[in-house]
Amino acid sequence: MNENRRLPAVDRVLSQLSELIEAHGRQLVTGCVRAELAAAREGLKHGLPLPEESALLAAIRRRADEAGRANLRAVFNLTGTVLHTNLGRALLSEEAIALMVEAARSPCALEYDLASGGRGDRDDLVSGLLAELVAGGSPDVAATIVNNNAAAVLLSLNALAQGKEAVVSRGELVEIGGAFRIPDVMRRAQVKLVEIGTTNRTHAKDYAEAIGPKTALLMKVHTSNYEVTGFTAAVHEAEVAKIAHAANLPFLVDLGSGTLTDFAALGLPPEPTPQQALAAGADIVTFSGDKLLGGPQAGLIVGRKDLIAKIKKNPLKRALRVGKTTLAALEATLRLYRDPDRLVERLPTLRLLTRPVADITALAERVLPAAQAAVGELATVSVQPCSSQIGSGALPVERLPSAALVFKPTAKKPGKTLLALEAACRGLPVPVIGYIRDDAFHLDLRCLEAKDEARFVAQLAELKI
Ligand SMILES: *Cc1c(COP(=O)(O)O)cnc(C)c1O
Repeated sequence: MNENRRLPAVDRVLSQLSELIEAHGRQLVTGCVRAELAAAREGLKHGLPLPEESALLAAIRRRADEAGRANLRAVFNLTGTVLHTNLGRALLSEEAIALMVEAARSPCALEYDLASGGRGDRDDLVSGLLAELVAGGSPDVAATIVNNNAAAVLLSLNALAQGKEAVVSRGELVEIGGAFRIPDVMRRAQVKLVEIGTTNRTHAKDYAEAIGPKTALLMKVHTSNYEVTGFTAAVHEAEVAKIAHAANLPFLVDLGSGTLTDFAALGLPPEPTPQQALAAGADIVTFSGDKLLGGPQAGLIVGRKDLIAKIKKNPLKRALRVGKTTLAALEATLRLYRDPDRLVERLPTLRLLTRPVADITALAERVLPAAQAAVGELATVSVQPCSSQIGSGALPVERLPSAALVFKPTAKKPGKTLLALEAACRGLPVPVIGYIRDDAFHLDLRCLEAKDEARFVAQLAELKI
């Protein structure tokens, strides 16, 4: 009882924390003061000494800084997966960031036609640009934008095939991470899936024979995240398109990643493009904004103008539409594709994917001493070759040569040290995310750009294992 009285009053503590109140607000700080005083009171009951006032204030500051920090935090993605879905996929270009900020800060002509003063259509902000990039500006090609590619597939199917049948090869009934499965999406779109062929082989006649009075469309799904090898057969898009058009049906292609640039020319594993799909006769192509395109989370639907109009009229479109900041980022991203010479330098996704291994290795050698100093005797750190992956549904078997800082624990049984090291890295002011493999903790430095090197090195000194 007596001891309790010696704890300072809440108001007295608060009077010493004006800067903290300025930073986080009185309500949050008051809560932290109460919580720390309660913890101290509890400690007294269990025989702990009364905390020094300076220690009490420091604990309150720590608690308030923690509570006042945003939940969505920037991290260093050193997992070796460039487009990491759990870490936010594509990083935006400075151009995209600038236009997003402007759209966020000011009123903007989102659905307003500045020429006529009348109502506009938000899809028009990017529809022309997309037609230019994927179809040489063809007036017969239009586009509409939704929340992500899953939404693009759902909306396209529902708008074009509700209550009817869609024909898909058994080899393409894919599951993408996070519970996107083609058969489930079909069901939700109220479309009857007609599976054709077998897991490993589907032929042109399978498509032709599946067409009946209830068929609404033929569909191909890009099987980006796995590979069936051996005795396989799939039908090329141009051939499926021919079969669809002979029966007067639209042909839908879900491309998944859908880069707009020639990956092979950049020395990257080849990826099909919407340009190719449309040229092969696809009527509608869907792809993601935040995968290889390098833009914001969005689902892009491009293709035949009449079909796009039908898709836009569907009430689901209103439920799945994107906001102004997304459209701003998407427009700015697409504009970069008009200048292919500077694309790799300006678009972080392509810049990271094409980064020369010599660059990454040199960086690793530079930061190695700081990494070794940070872990002391606990582990031996070395620079080792490793392989990054593109991520987000790109073929996991395709690897990009890279370099990693590899922490090998000195203890005979490394398990505990590895977990502690991994957790300590996550606990840094800018959390560092790596991976454990072969009894060692790896930091693939592909995604640590030179501009962030100093910050990365500086905070290593704060590593607490
Ligand atoms: C990634 C992917 C999707 C889902 O796209 P999100 O933008 O993540 O919704 C759908 N289909 C394919 C083939 C994909 O690769």
